[in-house]
Amino acid sequence: MASVKLTNVKKVYDNNVVAVHDFNLDIKDKEFIVFVGPSGCGKSTTLRMIAGLEEISGGTVEIDGEVVNDLQPKDRNIAMVFQNYALYPHLTVFENMAFPLRLKRPKMSEDEIYNRVTNAAEILGITEYLMRKPKALSGGQRQRVAIGRAMVRDSKVFLMDEPLSNLDAKLRNQMRAEIILLRKKIDTTYIYVTHDQTEAMTLGDRIVIMKDGYIQQVDTPQGVFDWPSNLFVAGFIGAPQMNFFDAELKKEGNKYYVITDHGKFEVTGDKGKKLAEKNIGDRKVTLGVRPEHMTLVHEKREDTIECTMEVNEMMGSELHLHLSTETGKKIIVRVPTISLDDEFRKHLTYGETLYVTFEGKAMHFFDPETTNNILV
Ligand code: ADP
Repeated sequence: MASVKLTNVKKVYDNNVVAVHDFNLDIKDKEFIVFVGPSGCGKSTTLRMIAGLEEISGGTVEIDGEVVNDLQPKDRNIAMVFQNYALYPHLTVFENMAFPLRLKRPKMSEDEIYNRVTNAAEILGITEYLMRKPKALSGGQRQRVAIGRAMVRDSKVFLMDEPLSNLDAKLRNQMRAEIILLRKKIDTTYIYVTHDQTEAMTLGDRIVIMKDGYIQQVDTPQGVFDWPSNLFVAGFIGAPQMNFFDAELKKEGNKYYVITDHGKFEVTGDKGKKLAEKNIGDRKVTLGVRPEHMTLVHEKREDTIECTMEVNEMMGSELHLHLSTETGKKIIVRVPTISLDDEFRKHLTYGETLYVTFEGKAMHFFDPETTNNILV
């Protein structure tokens, strides 16, 4: 069992920088939690406070119900993997992995150390490198050793601080899949820090999105994608970024419409239902629509935005069309290449006119003043 609970946790550095304000979170046993947000938002500081590598300025951190604020890192029963691997260059892979075990008191037997290291090496597929020094390994192999060194300790909580950010894109994807598999093999509690929203979405049971030392939203990947709590989360999760428009919400009979400078669109699906449930009246909103929820149509209609083609980014299976609306607003539309007929293909060059629409269930509505999602 290893739950982690943070209550009113705060970090003020010596230079009076408040890195983390009033952080509250209950992490369940065996949960995979990801802290995500732009650089400087306080992710690492929070992780380091859980690890005991950074003093806690206020609030409490509990592991399995025990307040650990004043416990040394070695007494917290956690394992941590760092971005820069932190391997000892003069030791072999075997000795790097055995290192934390050799520090244990009472002393661990050589047989036990051998078993634990070779077992971890097998899980990670690095058995054949055990006698090598770190400099004779690739970045991905070094990262596996760093994970192995954390694994051998039977820790209650596994902390990972940007473990993949030093790897090239291909290796990063591969290691991401390996971490998902690792999780199946070592069923413990994970807290993982990244600035990469794709890593957060693919790895996390729940994601904690942070900005400027404050939590913005805690939810499942699907939850933050479908119901982002505010404009920041909406823009941060999903790539390319969600498109935003100034708009008016209008109720006509029992239907809701959203009117922008460019067109009038009916709100449907869960979004329409939620508006009715909350009995929301006519009001100004910031409308958000994800690029992949926009489609091209052949002719101008009431529910289309007339756009001028600017840049066509060919991604193979899909296109990212950078368009400019009649009012000069820049939007991005993501279309599957396979969905395009010859007529559309003729219009995919600079300066051509395209008509874009989107379904009412794909809309998100934010308060232009507070930036909060009006339906969450
Ligand atoms: P993240 O991991 O999200 O990139 P950090 O937790 O590293 O962010 O940093 C959060 C804030 O605290 C930043 O403004 C950063 O400059 C500041 N900070 C981090 N470490 C220190 C330190 N040792 N002393 C002073 N300020 C720090």
